[in-house]
Amino acid sequence: MNKAEEANTYQIHIQGLVQGVGFRPFIYRIATHHKLSGWVENRNDGVFIKVNATDREIQDFITSVKEESPEASNIFTIETTKIKNEKIKDFRIIKSENKSDEITEVSPDIAVCKDCIDDLKTQSHRIDYPFINCTNCGPRFTIIQDIPYDRDMTTMNPFKMCNECNSEYVNVLDRRFHAQPLACNTCGPTYRLHHGERVINNFEEIIRTTCELLEQGEIVAIKGLGGFHLACDATNEEAVKRLREAKNRDGKPFAVMFSSVEAMQDYVEVDRSEQDLLTSWRTPIVLTKDKGKLAPSVSMGFQNTGIMLPYMPFHHLLFVKLKLAVIVLTSGNISNEPIIINNEDGLNKLGSIAKAVLIYNREIYNRTDDSVAFITNDKPRLIRRSRSYAPSPIRLKINVEGIFAAGAELVNCFCMGREKQAILSQHIGDLKNLETLDFYSESISRFKKLFRVKPTLVAHDLHPDYLSTRFAKELNLPLIGIQHHHAHIVSCMAEHQLDEKVIGIALDGVGYGDDGNTWGGEFLICDLADYHRYTHFEYIKMPGGDRATKHPWRMALSYMYQYYGDSYSELKLEFLKDIPQNEIDLVVSMLQKNINCPLTSSTGRLFDAVAALTNICTEASFHAEAPMRLEAAIDDISKDSYEFKMNSSIKLEALFKGIVKDLQNGISNAEISTKFHRTIINIILAAVCKMRGEYNINKVVLSGGSFQNRYLLQYVENLLTANGFETYAHEKTPTNDGGLALGQLVIAAKKRELNMID
Ligand code: ZN
Ligand code: ZN
Ligand code: FE
Repeated sequence: MNKAEEANTYQIHIQGLVQGVGFRPFIYRIATHHKLSGWVENRNDGVFIKVNATDREIQDFITSVKEESPEASNIFTIETTKIKNEKIKDFRIIKSENKSDEITEVSPDIAVCKDCIDDLKTQSHRIDYPFINCTNCGPRFTIIQDIPYDRDMTTMNPFKMCNECNSEYVNVLDRRFHAQPLACNTCGPTYRLHHGERVINNFEEIIRTTCELLEQGEIVAIKGLGGFHLACDATNEEAVKRLREAKNRDGKPFAVMFSSVEAMQDYVEVDRSEQDLLTSWRTPIVLTKDKGKLAPSVSMGFQNTGIMLPYMPFHHLLFVKLKLAVIVLTSGNISNEPIIINNEDGLNKLGSIAKAVLIYNREIYNRTDDSVAFITNDKPRLIRRSRSYAPSPIRLKINVEGIFAAGAELVNCFCMGREKQAILSQHIGDLKNLETLDFYSESISRFKKLFRVKPTLVAHDLHPDYLSTRFAKELNLPLIGIQHHHAHIVSCMAEHQLDEKVIGIALDGVGYGDDGNTWGGEFLICDLADYHRYTHFEYIKMPGGDRATKHPWRMALSYMYQYYGDSYSELKLEFLKDIPQNEIDLVVSMLQKNINCPLTSSTGRLFDAVAALTNICTEASFHAEAPMRLEAAIDDISKDSYEFKMNSSIKLEALFKGIVKDLQNGISNAEISTKFHRTIINIILAAVCKMRGEYNINKVVLSGGSFQNRYLLQYVENLLTANGFETYAHEKTPTNDGGLALGQLVIAAKKRELNMID
């Protein structure tokens, strides 16, 4: 026997997303396929394998591990070490032991797989079983209470496996081998429908009644994977309107679920990348172009509708019997409260809105909303990062161990550092809501435990009144305040693992500036540790401060007063005709006397002003409604744009005077909106060219909520690329404040590394 054919013992340590995704059965299968003896084990810090193999066999084995690994898994490192020779017979999977404090990843939830859907018709103990799953699919993060990922650490713990399930669980050749949430009609969780006084336990009857109610235009509350949904017929205007009124959700579009890819073709325009994202194992809500066939109250005049496909076995089973191809499936909550997760709240709070409430007897441990994404330039972009994305870590080049980043206030996610991984929480929401604030602090405690993080440094926004800032200050740990727009840019840099000086364009609604003003149209030269404000949109008064956000007409009036003074009234502006004169007088006197008029360079307020000036949206019924409606007005026919001037700030007088002139000449809103967007794009190009000239930097990083504007993002990316810039925008984390905590975390880490913290 020559040396290469001699068997040695190897230890292999694999880290990454390798738990709860069918990894050990996969290793077992390839090891037996390669006829190797040894064992595989889950530990806190990854999967450990011991095998006896020759040099060639070990190479082939590693190649198979890398190339054939399960779809939802994500291998980060494989370390192979030759150890003392051992005699091992067979190949075994051995039970997890809590061997160290290091951890590997917690898997996000995975949409039910095709094999399981097929099994619903053929497996005798799982005929139509609504909680079917296997090692390749099913609930994960939503049911995990602690690691390592074993059944008794999940909310499946109370369900004792029946003999039949157990035989699959221990059978290495079965697709359900070591599938922790494994269950069947005999032993697993069950649904229960509360319909008025009736409580229905029979699943066939549950489906029949739910279908009847939905088809009759009734609202049904349905417990989902990460929280409750409210459902109704998406083509029944009366039903959707009723749901909208009950939810107290004025103008914000509802998401819908289609039965299948085929069914959605009639209703929305979906391109290849959108379809790929919709059918991926993450099954997010994807914003697509509406063909106008859904009930008008679904999208409230927006051309973009958020659509998704079935991801729970229940959804599939429902659509088999349902005569509707599409239903509204919006989060089950009351106005701004977090999505409801427990049965009691579902019955009590949603019972008054819905005709029936469908619950099941497994607990949702970690609340997750449906994630929301859109495609621009063929790349997925996230607006809300939650179900099936969280808590996957973002890999960094910098050590962020022990840092807690508190995030923003209105669209909060927090972030924790673990070695070179940033663990961004699921979408938390608006902390000004008391229940959401509870969800925030509860989730922080859970993340500390689940990911074994003991914070030693806390990063927070500079805004003294943010509830996240106050929370951070109460922790009694070393603190570091991070400027909002610097955090935005670094969040995007972190995603792309950039660590150098870049041009950063941070466009958003509001963020506390280091001069005490409200920033939001910021052109920065920055790196991970520091920033320099190169230029910004010129300051404008924000009459009533934050209140102006709800009343875009105030911003329009502020710009008009800035450029025309008292003679603004001679312009006879259309948008002011519906505003009560006493309110106009009040705002004008605030502007004149400079009372409660903080200064802002906000891009959001600039878009608000143009949306109001054109009378597209003078009052906002939800966050960012005016900019969204302004974007929706674009026809992209006009190639014109307005004038502007750039020095230490970007002067917008010519832009506004141009719009007023166009309004007087009867130019359409579609044309004005297009010209306005093109102007912003021209401003960005002019600014970055100037900055490149002065600083010799070619990398441009885009961040901030305004880049949720698809027109803006698409054109800016393409134009900058065409002009030779390397352009970076968010793909893994939201460009809005939901991604902010990642930037805070990395800035704090860099300052710590450079000893810049006192
Ligand atoms: Zn499956
Ligand atoms: Zn069973
Ligand atoms: Fe922001």
